[in-house]
Amino acid sequence: MWWKEPVTSLKGIGPKKAQDFKTLNIETVGDLLNHYPRQGCYLDYSQIRPISGLAADGSMQLFEGRVARVTRRRSARGAAYATLVVGDGTAFAEIFLFGAQRYAARYYKNGDTVLVIGRVAPGRTAKAVTGAVVTKVDPNKPQKAPGILPTYALTGSLTQKDMRSAVRRALALASQELPECLPEWILRRKQFPGRYEALCNIHFPESFAKLEAARRRFIFEELYFIQCGLLYHRAQVKQESRGIKMARSGSMVEAVLRQLGFALTASQQKAWQEIQDDMESPEPMNRLLQGDVGSGKTAIAILALAKTAENGFQGCMMAPTEILAEQHYEEMQKVLEPAGIRTALLTGSLSQARRRDVLEGLADGTIQAVVGTYALIQDKVVFHSLALAITDEQHRFGVQQRAALSAKSQYAPHVLVMTATPIPRTLALTVYGDLDVSLMKGLPPGRKPIRTLCYPDSKRAAVYQGLIHQVREGHQAYVVAPLIEGSDAVDAKAASDLYEELTATYLKGIPCGLLHGRLKAEEKEKVMADFVSGRTKVLIATTVIEVGVNVPNATLMVIEGADRFGLAQMHQLRGRVGRGSSQSYCVLLTGSSNPQTLERLQIMHSCSDGFLLAEKDMELRGAGQLFGERQHGLPDLYIADILRDTDALVEARAFAKEAMARPESRRQVLEAVTHTQFDARFEQIFNV
Ligand code: ADP
Ligand code: MG
Repeated sequence: MWWKEPVTSLKGIGPKKAQDFKTLNIETVGDLLNHYPRQGCYLDYSQIRPISGLAADGSMQLFEGRVARVTRRRSARGAAYATLVVGDGTAFAEIFLFGAQRYAARYYKNGDTVLVIGRVAPGRTAKAVTGAVVTKVDPNKPQKAPGILPTYALTGSLTQKDMRSAVRRALALASQELPECLPEWILRRKQFPGRYEALCNIHFPESFAKLEAARRRFIFEELYFIQCGLLYHRAQVKQESRGIKMARSGSMVEAVLRQLGFALTASQQKAWQEIQDDMESPEPMNRLLQGDVGSGKTAIAILALAKTAENGFQGCMMAPTEILAEQHYEEMQKVLEPAGIRTALLTGSLSQARRRDVLEGLADGTIQAVVGTYALIQDKVVFHSLALAITDEQHRFGVQQRAALSAKSQYAPHVLVMTATPIPRTLALTVYGDLDVSLMKGLPPGRKPIRTLCYPDSKRAAVYQGLIHQVREGHQAYVVAPLIEGSDAVDAKAASDLYEELTATYLKGIPCGLLHGRLKAEEKEKVMADFVSGRTKVLIATTVIEVGVNVPNATLMVIEGADRFGLAQMHQLRGRVGRGSSQSYCVLLTGSSNPQTLERLQIMHSCSDGFLLAEKDMELRGAGQLFGERQHGLPDLYIADILRDTDALVEARAFAKEAMARPESRRQVLEAVTHTQFDARFEQIFNV
């Protein structure tokens, strides 16, 4: 198929340009057509304007006129340049030709008619035009405007011209052969343009109305295939595999409930009931447990592990960090072991001998409940009878990893995914489109709301005085280093710098720990152990502490450079305090005096509902902040935006349901995904 051919198969693209294309992730002709122009940045050359009507605002515009004068000049600095003065009866424009462009001036003489696209700015006597493309035209033929031109994201030596001509060549191939990928009934009901027409109009729109229609179609198409994939995956799991029907909860679960040491809250009870019902049904559970930070999801996970053990099967829980896995392990030992359930921890940093023991115990079934990191999904890990796969802080994992965990079982295991990232309903629908949802609202009783305060950096000394006060009272504190976009290494440096600074100044003499993603596993473990035991009073850290860390004695969190964080992320972070019975505080420090930034930080003060904050965040900063682009494990979206296009999303889901409900149209969807798409991005969801 022509769209699978490398871009070098197009005329004018050699190995050097191909390299630049590759940087843009464009390797095939199909990739090139999937490289949509920057939306909202099309250049409107659909009308030739009178010179008097050109906006002198620095934008690229199109006009026609006759050359009135050609001059050669030298700038004050001695550089040679040329100008063309062009008039059309309404006004004059002076076109500046710098550098090599100036040689073009010799082709023009007074009276020539020219068509000009250039950047128009105010000038002394006539409008000044730079960056111009000038074409001599026949004055007797009416000129056709070049139309609406796309602008593309570029890299290296690629120019818009390179891009446009490459795309034109690819479109010529598409005009020969381009299978439709949406079914006829959808095209009709939605009044979408056909695929070829849409593809032409997204790149070189005939009109803005046609561009809009093409956009609508492609946005729908992306969301539709994703929804079909998720529904397919779900049906697959439900049908093809044997579920494990468990018995009503008995004495072992009862014992674990007692071991927890507290009564479940109403919303925990509700979630636990839903999970039990799922596990007692012959179909495998596929459930998302969504609950705000500190709502007590771990207890529910532990109960599900207990129920699994009670039924003679194994359960596992995967956590995104070693710190979190270790913490869960401690809790499991405390609560599950007394009920006679054997637990284990599996992380990358276990000793060889320990690791061997755990692998053996999992293979022969003596270990009934295991918690670990990514290490759990490695090939060497074999389970005797895995019946429950839990992922904690699901937003850190993708669909694939979740699937890899389930694949460890010869059955279709019950799947429970837990997240504290509050996701608005529509987003949950896309990303977790194949899951049922349990929601836990509210916090366990006896918690005092965290007081959140915002101070300018000029108050740092006083803030750290306050921190020392908390420590003197016997409490502990976290200090979060400013977030630096970029790598782990940069973040780690920021935290180390802050550690150096604080231990030399405000916190001199106070035992402090330093935690960041670049530490070796044993180092991290030691730092955490010291903090948990109270040997260190202050933990200076990056956002690695964002998820799950539970030290109830910590009552204060200082977030430095708070303006750099998203609201939802700060909410996660501050969830580390307020876990005991003492009043807890979160202090946001900022060097910013921008009123908008300060207003945003004030929201943290008044709002402690993670769901509301997440929505605010998305309003203010867009989806990426909340949901790392790649973390959700779904295919890249080229044009749809799951937050902006919520209506399209809901509609795409409805259509996908309809399509996947009928065997014939289901077959068509699979066919479309595998045989019509330019790349394999949708296939991956259908395969997992
Ligand atoms: P998260 O939902 O953020 O994972 P955790 O499971 O870590 O929250 O729970 C936070 C804290 O609340 C833990 O210390 C846990 O022991 C405690 N907790 C959970 N459920 C209850 C409850 N019903 N009553 C009292 N404390 C609870
Ligand atoms: Mg948790």
